[in-house]
Amino acid sequence: MKILFYGAQSYDKKSFESQRGHFPEIHIDYLEAELNPMTATLAKGYDAICAFVNADLSALTLEVLFGSGIRLILLRCAGYNNVNLNVARELGMTIARVPGYSPEAIAEHSMSLALASCRHICKGYNRVRENDFSLNGLTGTTLHGKTAGIVGTGRIGAAMCHICKGFGMDVIAYDLHQNPNLDFVEYVSLDELYTQSDLISLHCPLFESNHHMINEDAINKMKDGVIFVNTARGGLVDTQALMAGIVSRKISAVGLDVYEEETNNAFIDRSNDIIDDTITAQLLSFPNVVITSHQAFLTQEGLEAIAWTTLDTAHRYAEGEKLKGPIIVL
Ligand code: NAD
Repeated sequence: MKILFYGAQSYDKKSFESQRGHFPEIHIDYLEAELNPMTATLAKGYDAICAFVNADLSALTLEVLFGSGIRLILLRCAGYNNVNLNVARELGMTIARVPGYSPEAIAEHSMSLALASCRHICKGYNRVRENDFSLNGLTGTTLHGKTAGIVGTGRIGAAMCHICKGFGMDVIAYDLHQNPNLDFVEYVSLDELYTQSDLISLHCPLFESNHHMINEDAINKMKDGVIFVNTARGGLVDTQALMAGIVSRKISAVGLDVYEEETNNAFIDRSNDIIDDTITAQLLSFPNVVITSHQAFLTQEGLEAIAWTTLDTAHRYAEGEKLKGPIIVL
């Protein structure tokens, strides 16, 4: 089994090489280049490719990969909204993913963003480094006793519900399917969640049907001063509407690990660039917005689990096993 690994970062190589000892028959070549229609031609002679959230898995890339002999796509992430599933299905490709490598890692990052933004941690940290020990402008919000509204209560959303409960919050949620293990959570309609929550955190996948679910209409229904967190996918939020909500003071604090236009930035050192993406530049200009660059997954435990599951899937595919369960998208 020969795998071509796209978009490889040093932490990817480290985690995959540390797990590869369990799968000696698997050979991996690491490419720093991202997957797109042009780099897809490099996959000739490999049995599978491995890609991450920002890979271009559009129709053209899939067709080039198919023409190069690739039948197995190993996504080293949970989400698969970047894959043109219709084309992959027509081509008969197998798309595998890592569904629940460390849901707590992402949920803990979500709460970190909520706290960093609503308690002005970044601002306070920078002040003290400049010997400015004043507190004006750093007044925060206590979460204890407030209501957390969790959208999507699968693996990550459930972990976030537990964290919010631990903070002494009342937890309400919206999901298409209720999670029977969350007996302390009250399921409500989406509108009720918007109107009742002091903290709203998104944990559902992105589909065409929920693209821009957080739009002007949704934001208008929210409580004044709501704290908003998104670690799910940027496309769930209409960023222009979010920024209008920040300007109107409807939203008091925002934590984002994902946002529209992040593809130009994610995992790239652009510290010497003039950022001309209007959305990124505008979001960064707000003092009550804390942004991280799609790093919620990035813990030691998460990386190890991603590497192990991905290699185990490749091994079982090579053995001719009929793969099934949540690791298989197609
Ligand atoms: P999951 O499949 O375990 O749970 C998703 C839940 O969302 C399910 O309960 C499902 O019923 C629900 N859902 C589906 N459509 C919905 C809708 N329209 N409205 C409300 N709920 C809906 O997935 P998970 O492992 O918890 O991951 C959730 C999402 O988190 C992923 O799809 C991915 O986009 C994102 N994610 C982000 C990172 C990161 O590093 N920032 C890492 C992993 C996953």
